[in-house]
Order: sequence, then structure tokens, then C-alpha cells
Amino acid sequence: MTEEAIKIEGGKKSIFMDKVKEILPDGGNLNLCLTCGACSSGCPATGLGDMDPRKFLRMAALGLDDEILKSDWVWWCSMCQRCIYVCPMKIDIPQLVYNVRASWPREDRPKGILGSCDMALRNDSCSAMGATPEDFQFVVEDVLEEYQEAQPEFKDMQAPIDKEGAEFFLNQNSREPVTEPDELVPLWKILHLVGADWTYGSKGWGGENYCMFLAEDESWEHITRTSAEQADTLGCKTFLNTE
Ligand code: SF4
Ligand code: SF4
Repeated sequence: MTEEAIKIEGGKKSIFMDKVKEILPDGGNLNLCLTCGACSSGCPATGLGDMDPRKFLRMAALGLDDEILKSDWVWWCSMCQRCIYVCPMKIDIPQLVYNVRASWPREDRPKGILGSCDMALRNDSCSAMGATPEDFQFVVEDVLEEYQEAQPEFKDMQAPIDKEGAEFFLNQNSREPVTEPDELVPLWKILHLVGADWTYGSKGWGGENYCMFLAEDESWEHITRTSAEQADTLGCKTFLNTE
């Protein structure tokens, strides 16, 4: 297999690199790469689209912004942050990925991520499935009642929504109440058996944040803030992010 060599013509500056250096402490260490390859070795997106995080960083360092923008690779990065974890220089490649994503026109971003973010912005649930607070409450109460009756050992189990002063504020992947409501129950059982004092919020119960993956600052802040403010309003002490 032959690979086309990338021709470097002059020392171009990278807008992506400069932006990340501006916003991160110590410039995200982007200039400190040792080219050791540790990031690429554990990256789930290595090899997709003939790209890997080390190559991506090199291309940005060389000012190859136009070539980077031609690749879909930034959307295959899972933002898992493994690369930072293993990097001896703690270089923040996902932040670089985020900034490249943010430079894409909104309408050209992947439809699945875009649609899920738009759904989450529809109401205060922040659910990527678009479920309303009322629908969530109905499903939780219905499933709880069913299990309390069917399994007498769990007749006192609770699944509170908006319980003031609860120790733990939980969020919830919104696929479960919408498509697989029985999958809600194992976690309720664990919390019941350990005697945890917990609650969902009617607002901000949707745990996923596709707007972050969409790289849309205002939207993902809105999702996060809605959830965090509900936890504060209820006086919960600990935010448990189940996603
Ligand atoms: S792990 Fe860090 S230092 Fe090594 S190649 Fe990747 S970014 Fe560079
Ligand atoms: S954050 Fe992205 S680049 Fe880093 S290891 Fe995960 S998938 Fe790879």
C-alpha cells in the first residue's frame, strides 16, 4: 500500500493550535510533543481515515489546517481523553479536536450528534431523545409501581423526582425511560439496598450531552447548567453523573 506524502510548503501558522494555546493553562502543552506515539497506541480512533492523534497533532503543529479540515477524523475521536492520560507531556489533543469540530459549519456536522443536541435543547429534561419532564415522571412512577407490586422484597423501593435535600442528585441516560424502561430498575435496586438518599431532577435528568460532542459552547453549557442548577435548587450535596 502506498501513502501519499504530505508536502510542507513554508512554516504556516495553525489557527487551531493558536486558539487552544489561548484557552488552556500552559497552552495545553501543544508544543511539547516528543512524537513517542503513546497517544496513538491506545486511541480507539487510530487508523480510521488514515489518521491518529500523533499525526493529527503534527499536522496542526505544521499549520496544515486545510488538510485537517478535509478529514472527518475529528468526528471519530470519542473525546475519551486516553491520549492525555498516557501522554508524558499531558498534551490536550481532545481540546484541539473540539476546536476543529467547532470550526465546521453547523449544518455540515454529523446528523446524529446534531439532531441529539437539538432534541436536548427542546425542553428542560435535556434529554437527547426529546422526552419531556412529564413523560419521564410518568414512566418512572409507572415502572416503580410495577416492580413494587411484582417483587415484594422491593415494595419500599423509591425512585424520587425533585426530592428536596437528597444527598445524591442522579442523572439518567434518556434512552432507557424512552425505549427500555426496565433498564432503569437495577440501579434503583442497588440504591435501595445500600440505603442511598437520592433523587432525579424533573429538570436536567438527561445525562448525555451531545451538544458537547457537537462542540457548541453555548448549548452544552446550557445543558450542564440546567442540570447543575436543579441539583442546587433541591439542595443536593453530591452530583452523580451516571453517563
Ligand atoms: S503521547 Fe504525547 S508526546 Fe507522545 S506522541 Fe502523543 S502527544 Fe506527543
Ligand atoms: S480523546 Fe480522541 S484522540 Fe484522544 S485517545 Fe480518545 S479518541 Fe483518541
